[in-house]
Amino acid sequence: MSTSTFDFDLFVIGGGSGGVRAARMAAQRGARVALAEMLGTDGLGGTCVNVGCIPKKLYSYAAHYGEAFEESHGFGWELEEQPRFNWATLKARRAREISRLNGIYGNLLTGSGVTVFDAFARIDGPQAVALKPNGEAGEKRFTAKHILIATGGRPSVPEIEGREHVIDSNAIFDLEPFPQRLLIVGGGYIASEFASIFNGLGSKVTQLYRGEQILRGFDDEIRHFVANEMTKAGVDLRLGADVATIAKTDDGLRVALKGGGEVMADAVLYATGRVPTVGGLGLEAVGVAQGKNGEVIVDEHYRTSVPSILAVGDVTNRIQLTPVALGEAMVVVDQLFGPAAGKPPRSMAYDFIPTAVFTHPSIGTVGLSEADARKQHGEVTIFRSEFKALKHTLSGSTERTLMKLVVDTKSDRVVGLHMVGAEAGEIVQGFAVALKAGATKAVFDSTIGIHPTAAEEFVTMREPVKPA
Ligand code: FAD
Ligand code: NDP
Repeated sequence: MSTSTFDFDLFVIGGGSGGVRAARMAAQRGARVALAEMLGTDGLGGTCVNVGCIPKKLYSYAAHYGEAFEESHGFGWELEEQPRFNWATLKARRAREISRLNGIYGNLLTGSGVTVFDAFARIDGPQAVALKPNGEAGEKRFTAKHILIATGGRPSVPEIEGREHVIDSNAIFDLEPFPQRLLIVGGGYIASEFASIFNGLGSKVTQLYRGEQILRGFDDEIRHFVANEMTKAGVDLRLGADVATIAKTDDGLRVALKGGGEVMADAVLYATGRVPTVGGLGLEAVGVAQGKNGEVIVDEHYRTSVPSILAVGDVTNRIQLTPVALGEAMVVVDQLFGPAAGKPPRSMAYDFIPTAVFTHPSIGTVGLSEADARKQHGEVTIFRSEFKALKHTLSGSTERTLMKLVVDTKSDRVVGLHMVGAEAGEIVQGFAVALKAGATKAVFDSTIGIHPTAAEEFVTMREPVKPA
């Protein structure tokens, strides 16, 4: 396995979702592996662990308690005092959990035999990496048979007048003080999730989206439904709206809108997309081809234009999700060092990737939107169920749930499954297995439901709403 002429068999740049998984698995196969993370061991885990999925989901749980206290009255609970939210406590408890996770990632790597460098890495030739260790002068150079770029992405904020006053999603987690009035710009995952989170925590949230409906790319009915539910819950969602200028005043930030009007806010969060982290990596010098946003271009084997250099995850600017980065990393390891004993080599398919948006209520989705299914399959049959969840018959909440199946009429295969409602991600994960396995509507119909759940609706929808 080891190639002794090189210092390492694999040099991984970036200790995020993709990098850690690739390094750990390659080392477990007997390869000599190094990993450089510019944030050091305190930053191991990358975006997802430090400023992404995990702290975001913890804050989402925190936000749900607000409505849970309210709803508990309908079930007979009487609270002696009005509950109060302590932002400092949440931040401190989140920070403690994240450092615990950073430590676990470090132990997993060193325990598998990976050499971890607390350093910024630059590619210094097709099979060489130069490291600038944190706190040290000068560079150290290492050779490696293969180099894996897993440097992820970072938030991108457009040039606007007053840009110095805004924050991005990295800064929102430790924002001080708690924003009583929060303005969020963007209509994607991050903007919509934080709109729900801060609304739930007690901020007065205004969300500005430049287009006609948030969450472009999702099923249209799902987009309209979730936007309506978020608005009912208290988010002031303004569509077709954008920022002209931002100025600091004694009463907070004055955000002037294009076309007139203004919003006063204590903080302005820009969640307007992410760009690949490639600065200083030396890609041009070594001849790694990049796309227009700097993304590393890879073939179906994750090889860049330089065959010894590969790339996975957000730096390739394709589907920016942790499980995708993990999946790609495992395919790369199988390719370079062979599959795990007794297992076939892994492959990665980009259809039927399930995803959740942790808005309140949340979205869970897998497969094609109705519009895409029509384009791809021609005739489709739609099944739809909209209802008030059993819990809300007593809770007093007016929140509603939407479930939708998109069926290819010719083959009867379910090609899209979408939901807005509580625990949508938990529900849709299981159905994703069925869609991946090619389940037809007849298979859904013959599946027995679990009663009483919301999920059972997916196997009890009988009448198409839009006959093909
Ligand atoms: P990253 O995790 O970004 O890791 C890259 C690492 O490389 C970083 O630690 C960086 O410091 C390091 N690095 C960069 N350049 C260098 C260099 N030159 N030398 C050394 N180190 C370097 N995905 C989900 O699936 N579910 C979610 O709920 C979810 N929520 C999210 C919420 C937010 C707010 C954000 C921002 C993202 C969220 N994501 C979510 C997306 C997910 O975090 C990313 O898709 C995932 O982290 C990508 O992993 P990666 O390995 O490609 O990169
Ligand atoms: P997205 O690409 O999802 O959304 C960016 C949003 O910003 C879009 O609504 C876009 O509008 C808008 N926008 C872009 N540029 C501007 C501009 N100059 N002015 C005003 N609005 C602008 O990016 P996010 O930052 O929300 O998230 C990045 C990625 O991270 C996601 O795509 C997702 O893959 C991942 N992620 C996953 C999560 C999960 O799994 N739950 C949670 C959070 C992030 P338009 O639609 O018009 O282009």
